[in-house]
Amino acid sequence: MGVLKNNAVVSKNLLAQLVFGVDTLIGLGAYILMSFAFEKDFSIWFLLLSGIFAYLPDFDLLIFFLLSKEQRRWGHWRLGFHHPMFFVPLSVLIVFFLSWKWAPDSAVYLTVLAFMGIMGHFIHDSTKDGLHWFSPITRDGGWSFDPLRWARIKISYRDGIEIVPQREVAKIYERIAQKAVGEGEVGSRLEKVTWVHVYTFMLCITCLGVMVVTAR
Ligand SMILES: [Zn+2]
Repeated sequence: MGVLKNNAVVSKNLLAQLVFGVDTLIGLGAYILMSFAFEKDFSIWFLLLSGIFAYLPDFDLLIFFLLSKEQRRWGHWRLGFHHPMFFVPLSVLIVFFLSWKWAPDSAVYLTVLAFMGIMGHFIHDSTKDGLHWFSPITRDGGWSFDPLRWARIKISYRDGIEIVPQREVAKIYERIAQKAVGEGEVGSRLEKVTWVHVYTFMLCITCLGVMVVTAR
């Protein structure tokens, strides 16, 4: 019963975060700003794509949940897409080539949307436990695919750009792993939705409304 109740709380919070959360606001904000900059009319498909871009680094969770509990203990940041040095250029290139093929008029626009959404996602993640932006390049300039050595550099919102000692990073991952086992990979990452989120969301919806009304 306790587990059921817990799951209900997690899914309610997850839903709130999917609607009002920072990544959603990043997708909406990038869409509104870039549509204005590129003089694009409202398109529900491009809006959806912008949302997908802002959540793209977390799509590894779909694969992650197929892993065994033991493998999941490492946390999806380490095993998945949260390695910006690879993920940003690769995904942006793929978006460029696909949109060049399917929507050549909007290729640059979509590529910029992808870049903003994905970078926004990583910057937002950096505000939580810090993110190893330069993985797998280690602090001493070498590189290593040993997951723990990946994590030598982090950028944090609170402390700015910070190169943290190896043992500190080990602790961060220990904490993430414990949370992932205890509260679950998703549950442990949920943030509180505040009025600032809701107001920003309403502002974005108003802008979208204006875009729809003024569309040519
Ligand atoms: Zn993430």
